[in-house]
Amino acid sequence: MLEKDSLEILKNSLVQLENGFSELPEFESSVDIERLGKVLDQVALRMQDNFPYFHPFYAGQMLKPPHPIARLGYMLAMWINPNNHALDGGKASSEMEKEVVADLAKMFGWDQHIGHLCGGGTMANMEALWVSRHIHPQKAIAASQLSHYTHSRISEVLGISYFSISCTPEGILDIDQLEELLQREQIGTVVATMGTTGTGSVDPLPELLELQTQYGFRIHADCAYGGYFYLASNLSSGTREKFDGLHQVDSIVIDPHKHGLQPYGCGCVLFRDPKVGAYYKHDSPYTYFSSEELHLGEISLECSRAGAAAVGLWATHQYMPLEANGEFGKLLTDCRGAALRLLALIETHAEFLMLNSVELDILCFAKRKSTTSEISHESQRIFQEAAKQGVHLALLNHPTDKLPPSWNEIQIDSEYVTCLRSVLMKPEHKQWTDQIWNIIISI
Ligand SMILES: *Cc1c(COP(=O)(O)O)cnc(C)c1O
Repeated sequence: MLEKDSLEILKNSLVQLENGFSELPEFESSVDIERLGKVLDQVALRMQDNFPYFHPFYAGQMLKPPHPIARLGYMLAMWINPNNHALDGGKASSEMEKEVVADLAKMFGWDQHIGHLCGGGTMANMEALWVSRHIHPQKAIAASQLSHYTHSRISEVLGISYFSISCTPEGILDIDQLEELLQREQIGTVVATMGTTGTGSVDPLPELLELQTQYGFRIHADCAYGGYFYLASNLSSGTREKFDGLHQVDSIVIDPHKHGLQPYGCGCVLFRDPKVGAYYKHDSPYTYFSSEELHLGEISLECSRAGAAAVGLWATHQYMPLEANGEFGKLLTDCRGAALRLLALIETHAEFLMLNSVELDILCFAKRKSTTSEISHESQRIFQEAAKQGVHLALLNHPTDKLPPSWNEIQIDSEYVTCLRSVLMKPEHKQWTDQIWNIIISI
């Protein structure tokens, strides 16, 4: 099942890479292949203790292995191990980073930007909010109660006040609550989550942009999970409209290591106004001596960073450009297609209840029972039984004061209700949805 054919081409490309250094005198590095093999087998045995993230039967959390081209690009770069902090540490990979970051900015309709890759969405969000603090030093951050938990923690680290705004039953930021807050408090930045981690709900960006003209706050779009759905061709018209506003926000975070098919360690922060680069100013005396050009380390809070992450992403963009009507767009359309198929199956089974309105490729659902505590119990049972049959789902605890109208007949006897959650983030899921569903209903 694990793809191995692509390893053949890695060897040829390594020879190609080596050709670039052929003037150097020969040197031998001693490698004991037999010992390597023994240790690597131990690793393989240890790694068997994982859920099968690569298989379509894994339909639980946001996890999947990278695309073969990303894996190969990353591996090839490992023979050099570039550091994208400075051009001295990774010349080609820094250039590649600038190109992929520009690709991402262009995907959202930006023809100018400043930005870079970083360790992940948390770090990227931290930079975006750090810049917000520079611009509005005395003002607070506001985000919906379903925004990623890092926003409140990051605000704590940065020493900025943070306000949590309650959500509508659809899981999106309640715009009336926000307006009330804006009248009461000094809010410097509002976080719009374009695809919450729990349910994939998308905040009402058009309304936020309207409020922005009146109250003048910055808008930071956390697209860590949902950003790539910009390329999907089967979003609902309402969700599409929300994504279409992204070219007007002030900063964006997107995680290539989520829907961008990359190994972990690849997040990205983008700012619409290149002038925010001035806030990164520092005067490290020892790193910059090879060129007058901008070093990525001069516009990044992190110092050392894996150049290989940029190489993997660059290779992926060459293989599949970020185009809506190309191969990359189709992958996102297929993930959403899988979710729509599962939604249709759930909706034809009256004994099941949907919790979320499925804006992206995440579904939260439960088997109908008379009380919320019985539903929680049943979700746990299905979750465990499905795993025994090889199908891996996830669980979500949802507050019972935020249930959709379809749940009106359910008696609420607990503060939270546990639902089944499935992230259908592998394009192959589309072919496997019916099979997964048949296992769930057989339990
Ligand atoms: C995953 C996620 C994050 C955090 O990103 P990491 O890459 O895990 O650090 C932030 N925001 C949202 C909406 C996410 O889905």
